[in-house]
Amino acid sequence: MKIARLADLADPAACPLLVVKVGSSLLVDRQGVRRNWLEGLVAEIAEARTRGQAVIVVSSGAIALGAAKLGLAKGGRGSLADAQAAAAVGQIALSGLWADLLGAHGLTAAQLLLTLEDLEDRRRYLNATATLTRLLDAGAVPVINENDSVATQEIRFGDNDRLAARVAQAARASAVLLLSDVDGLFDRNPVEPGAKLLPEVRGVTAEVHAMASGGSSSGMGSGGMTSKLQAAEIAERAGIALAIASGLHDAPIARATAKGIGTLFLARRKDGGRKAWLGGRLRLKGALVVDAGAAKALSQGSSLLAAGITAVEGDFHRGDAVAVRGLDGATVAHGLAEYDARDCALLIGRKSADHAAILGYAPRSAVVHRDQLVLL
Ligand code: GLU
Repeated sequence: MKIARLADLADPAACPLLVVKVGSSLLVDRQGVRRNWLEGLVAEIAEARTRGQAVIVVSSGAIALGAAKLGLAKGGRGSLADAQAAAAVGQIALSGLWADLLGAHGLTAAQLLLTLEDLEDRRRYLNATATLTRLLDAGAVPVINENDSVATQEIRFGDNDRLAARVAQAARASAVLLLSDVDGLFDRNPVEPGAKLLPEVRGVTAEVHAMASGGSSSGMGSGGMTSKLQAAEIAERAGIALAIASGLHDAPIARATAKGIGTLFLARRKDGGRKAWLGGRLRLKGALVVDAGAAKALSQGSSLLAAGITAVEGDFHRGDAVAVRGLDGATVAHGLAEYDARDCALLIGRKSADHAAILGYAPRSAVVHRDQLVLL
């Protein structure tokens, strides 16, 4: 059953597994943890479980909470070292809080702290999938955050929106609910008069991106609408619905699902497990720039041949994930390269018949085979 309306997020038949992401500004304010609000949310999670839905929580708030405890400026986001220290202090309190509140409903919390690489590397991604599956089978509620204390600037998600979408993929969830401090996506900056909340988005197009102004409105988290749209893109390609709704109210899940206040990004297609992982990859080792003819051939299901490549970027090896970009700079696909970057460069623009002589070994049938390629 496909998710077509916000109400379906509360329907165990349409949504047997829901990922709920809670933003920092909902969990923590200047006084510390917003415990009453969180108790209400946990009661809703317990209700979802009673209805027969499994739930994974992606909880932000470690940095904000730790910064408050340590008295760090700028909510702990003044420097990477501050954020790492704040997260270490905040995370221990945060997980204790979730464990206590879920425990009060007879639910067992399970903490997972993930880094970007845990979900980018195929083997580690499968490990995370196995752990999540086992925890859910055992009836636990996984509570996930980025491992901010060890993640460095270059190798971190930096926002829990995309983390939630990647976790949903790994756990094969049906939907993600991003609870934030906004009602959803508006057709223009929501402070402008006449701004309208979009109830439904079919495909995150350039026009949709233009509606997001960027930056976090609360200054607590690091998300903002831009990272929410990136999360929606990951989800829609993986066959997962994603909703943005406000958590600034009591019973926020019911407000989104029963009253229908929020924005639902419909799933677009269902790539198989490996392709969905590849399409959602955030860090790629390099890029292959292709001409218009090759871009068209790819869109019709062909493999990428050297003849259509105009440039090779980055230092990747055979088997690494690379972006395929058109001449206009837009990424058209992600794929696994059949050659090292050096050999790809030798083959630029060259016909298949010449490859054996250029390389000095039996060539592969394509630079990226269509089975290892996912269109974006
Ligand atoms: N992982 C961060 C934290 O726990 C939050 C990232 C975000 O704001 O999305 O504080």
